[in-house]
Amino acid sequence: MALYHGPVCRFCRREGLKLFLKGDRCFTERCSFDRRSYAPGQHGQKRGKLSEFGQQLREKQKVRRVYGLTEKTMRLTFARAASSRGVVSENFFRNLENRLDNVVYRMGFARTRTEARQVVRHNHILVNGKRMNIPSANVSVGDIVTVCESSRAMPVFPLAMELFSKRAAIKWIDVDHKGFTGKVMASPTREDIHLNVKERMIVELYNK
Ligand code: SF4
Repeated sequence: MALYHGPVCRFCRREGLKLFLKGDRCFTERCSFDRRSYAPGQHGQKRGKLSEFGQQLREKQKVRRVYGLTEKTMRLTFARAASSRGVVSENFFRNLENRLDNVVYRMGFARTRTEARQVVRHNHILVNGKRMNIPSANVSVGDIVTVCESSRAMPVFPLAMELFSKRAAIKWIDVDHKGFTGKVMASPTREDIHLNVKERMIVELYNK
């Protein structure tokens, strides 16, 4: 299944939660969710009671929308989390957070994860001094992520850095915007991921 490139505000309205998928717009009065906080579509305002499966599906979809992943990638990430030691849901979120596109977004080098994926794909990012253009690449504790010197004049970076200050602070990353660089200081924990989802339901869904 290909990645979705259509309008994304409808996802926030569907999930009943601000997912911050549009960068600057999410922090203004133009936010669609703030204006119409009901599901999109003709019957959006008559939302009925969800079945247990429906609730599990919605929780999973929230995470999929936030990270902008395909269902196949979500399942692979979950399978990797389930086969690792420790609590499955924590492994799952850690694997999602450690993706390079997410780290670039968290460091404030992109306004959205979609933009971060593009920045990585277009060869603007170095990891430990080496060019890396795979958005799903795993970033580990101690890794240094830098914007390539020849790309620093691009307007996308100052815009993203300006927005960075409006977002919730990230404890596990140390960023130096003047040097266009950031370092992963620790592994992210569930509390570090400011996302209102019931992870238990996602585990139940994928364990079926
Ligand atoms: Fe969601 Fe509002 Fe951002 Fe649109 S502008 S993606 S509705 S938070």
